[in-house]
Amino acid sequence: MKKQKFPLYLQILLALILGVLFGIFLPEKVEYVSWMGEIFMRALKMIIIPLILTSIISGVANIGGTDNLGRLGLRTIGYYMLTSLLAIVTGLFFVNIFKPGVGFDLKSTEPIQDIAVSDNPFMDTLMNIVPTNIFQAFNESNMLSIIFFALLFGFFITTIRKDYSKLLVDFFNASFEAMMKLTQFIIKFTPFGIFGIIAKVVSEQDNLGELAGRLGIYMLVVLAGLFFHAFITLPTLVRTIGRVNPIKHFRLMVSTLLTAFSTSSSGATLSLTMDTVKNKVGVSNKIASFTLPLGATINMDGTALYELVVAMFIAQAYGIELTITQQFIAVFTALLASIGAAGIPMAGLVMISVILSTLGLPLEGLGLVIAVDRILDMFRTAVNVWSDSCAAVIIAKKEGETLLIENEKTLNKV
Ligand code: ASP
Repeated sequence: MKKQKFPLYLQILLALILGVLFGIFLPEKVEYVSWMGEIFMRALKMIIIPLILTSIISGVANIGGTDNLGRLGLRTIGYYMLTSLLAIVTGLFFVNIFKPGVGFDLKSTEPIQDIAVSDNPFMDTLMNIVPTNIFQAFNESNMLSIIFFALLFGFFITTIRKDYSKLLVDFFNASFEAMMKLTQFIIKFTPFGIFGIIAKVVSEQDNLGELAGRLGIYMLVVLAGLFFHAFITLPTLVRTIGRVNPIKHFRLMVSTLLTAFSTSSSGATLSLTMDTVKNKVGVSNKIASFTLPLGATINMDGTALYELVVAMFIAQAYGIELTITQQFIAVFTALLASIGAAGIPMAGLVMISVILSTLGLPLEGLGLVIAVDRILDMFRTAVNVWSDSCAAVIIAKKEGETLLIENEKTLNKV
């Protein structure tokens, strides 16, 4: 990744400060700047569907293309789903214990019937995942149906005549790359978007200190969940299933994780992750080159946890009680959103609207969390990459490999 003179997170920090100052000192002039936030949010929403569609179709079609969807493939995918779910449940636990959104008392400007959380019985929600008309699903931003369709379509691309499937795989890979470029282009404008959004949010607040305090608690809840997952859950899996010392593995991974932290992109970190896991940890090329690229696409534990906490936080902030069934749907959607998220900075922010619209929560809640998304992105990306590397170790051990990391002499040099 090219080094920027004035990195995005500093630009965002500056925008944040300026936005707060504008909102405090010039609240009556806020409409002169709030349009920037509105355009930014529109642009984010614009890219959601094509980004998810191309990300999932190309991800699934590429797995099939490597003839790997045998035992190794199923084992890896199963393990990835398991760790993402564990991360989500951790997030659910922390957000329900600390309830960071309770007390915000926000009123949505969207009409109430739009935000009333769907009270469909569980079976209806499951049935609705199968769309009757996929174009209507696009039109109504029915994310679960879109993801369902994309998973099936991606899979069946791998079953057709070789020349046809190559054509479609190339087409969707190319479209996905173009969509990632477009996303990164929009993300460049984040400082302007944040400036506009924050100025507006602040100008509407009577008690700013309280808002800041509550956002602080929200950040702590996300971080507590991420730390628990990274330092308790994953090491336990490495120790019990992989029978490898997780501390030794962590020490080898530190510089890769710091790269993930500072680039906020598991995609950009992938080559370094591969190098460390193969050459230092000692996982074979066969396992590393299958599990890690797949992990960078579909295994995002940090993002999954984050999506769930955001959804619950926004529901709490708008005083909307989610029933157990709705929380279950939130878990499921957070899992799908993390699978669909691209490994680039702030992809998780784009995916929040997926989970909000699925649960019928007000999209404007995004304005609340956008200010601190970039900081949390650094932590969740490091967790995403850490989880991929733990997976490579565990799968390699389950496939009967002996790793360099188990050799005491190698470790003493670290
Ligand atoms: N930045 C994250 C990643 O690349 C994705 C996200 O925004 O959650 O892994």
